[in-house]
Amino acid sequence: MRPFQVQITPIPGETAVAESAGTVYDVVVLGGGSGGYACALRAAQLGMSVALVEKGKLGGTCLHQGCIPTKALLHAAEVADAARESGQFGVRSTLDGIDMPAVNEYKDGVVTRLYKGLQGLVKSRKITYVEGMGRLVSPTAVEVEGQRLEGRHVVLATGSVPKSLPGLELDGQYVISSDHALHRETVPASVVVLGGGVIGCEFASVWRSFGAEVTIVEALPHLVPLEDEQASKALERAFRKRGIRYELGARFSGVERTETGVRVSLESGKQLDADLLLVAVGRGPVSQELGYEQVGIEMERGFVKVDGYCQTSVATVSAVGDLIPTLQLAHVGFGEGILVAERLAGLEPTPIDYDGVPRVTYCEPEVASVGITEARAKERFGDDAVETLIYDLAGNGKSQILKTAGFVKLVRQKDGPVVGIHMVGSRVGELVAEAQLIYNWEAFPDDVAQLIHAHPTQTEALGEAHLALAGKPLHMHG
Ligand SMILES: Cc1cc2nc3c(=O)[nH]c(=O)nc-3n(C[C@H](O)[C@H](O)[C@H](O)COP(=O)(O)OP(=O)(O)OC[C@H]3O[C@@H](n4cnc5c(N)ncnc54)[C@H](O)[C@@H]3O)c2cc1C
Repeated sequence: MRPFQVQITPIPGETAVAESAGTVYDVVVLGGGSGGYACALRAAQLGMSVALVEKGKLGGTCLHQGCIPTKALLHAAEVADAARESGQFGVRSTLDGIDMPAVNEYKDGVVTRLYKGLQGLVKSRKITYVEGMGRLVSPTAVEVEGQRLEGRHVVLATGSVPKSLPGLELDGQYVISSDHALHRETVPASVVVLGGGVIGCEFASVWRSFGAEVTIVEALPHLVPLEDEQASKALERAFRKRGIRYELGARFSGVERTETGVRVSLESGKQLDADLLLVAVGRGPVSQELGYEQVGIEMERGFVKVDGYCQTSVATVSAVGDLIPTLQLAHVGFGEGILVAERLAGLEPTPIDYDGVPRVTYCEPEVASVGITEARAKERFGDDAVETLIYDLAGNGKSQILKTAGFVKLVRQKDGPVVGIHMVGSRVGELVAEAQLIYNWEAFPDDVAQLIHAHPTQTEALGEAHLALAGKPLHMHG
């Protein structure tokens, strides 16, 4: 069923659109995911006429196969853990089991409500929504199933899809991607997760909370390898305690079907039997056979190359989101989409500082960070020009109430601002909002130390870490 009627609507303002062929939009956006729809919404808000082309569902990966459904599963996992472990808080309850169809109904209900809201938003901004598969046919035009949409500017936002390894075929049942994992009607008894990045760790966490035996296989030396090494190690300790197994620095060599599931082989010779294998080795850009190269757009490993303003090598074409080689996060897509709309409207947006983008892995415990790691800070400023401080959540009242372990780690340029904040612990994803202000406003430890944090909250841990780094620790030895 079509989400809503395709409409060619007159746009208020100077650049009114004719309701017939010959229309030239201010912006034609190809792809209605986070990057594309954010660009379309902001461009329309700035008075531009916009056509938004989407072959699947408005909202893209984030809404339908990514952020939202996975976070609903993680919330159900948290509820399961709370029921199972309630005894430690003196509350008697038992976990009877996981009703996967009911979990899916809850998850799908969240997605459906947000999907309807987004459709209404696009409609209310008078964006011309065109359903169908689009292709770039000139520096100023997209063709959608025979219909040519001309624009003064085109924005490419065709996103990404799950990748696999050479020769590793996904059958959707025993060897699956994150897309398949979202639609399972039962909880597997055992899973091997190939890839210990964000997506792999989040699914490992969900399945473990639902009762599965889980083993993560990661080729690099640590889980969430892009994070500060101490954060990765803390997550590894926490996962070990939860009974999530992992093989680090382990290379996958093959998978075969067994009577009950799969047998995964590693280059070390080790074999792992499980009900299924989740392949979470990253996502690749959707850029093949869409006319990009033919129009002269420079590409790099399938990604569209852009400058700091998301401008491609062709003056009238911009690109945003997972299609370009920046962080593959929904909020990065939103930011890039908004930046492009504002540039096209003649405003002067500031290029994005990608180090200043908050990053959260929503497993249990959560890992959250902003800024740069200690290792990168040392590369950038020199070994002697970097100071670090770890505030253990053992000293934080609210974390003790929640019975979570972890830390807040600060990385600071000596005598300079805080350049990295790295956190591990239940719910620390919520602390990243303050952390990002500290990083992006180039705060010094003293600036933050004088701010009073509410007691007892986990935000106090951020305050206390800065107090300590400013030389006046409160609930901390030293
Ligand atoms: C399991 C999972 C969990 C995630 N969790 C998070 C999270 O918690 N937080 C976070 O920030 N990010 C998360 N992400 C990443 C996030 O979903 C992506 O970064 C984001 O969706 C990228 O947005 P995009 O607009 O670039 O691409 P997409 O969302 O992929 O959208 C691209 C759109 O373009 C459409 N399209 C493609 N080709 C064409 C064509 N030729 N014609 C018409 N339409 C076309 C597609 O149908 C799609 O709707 C997660 C991703 C996954 C897979």
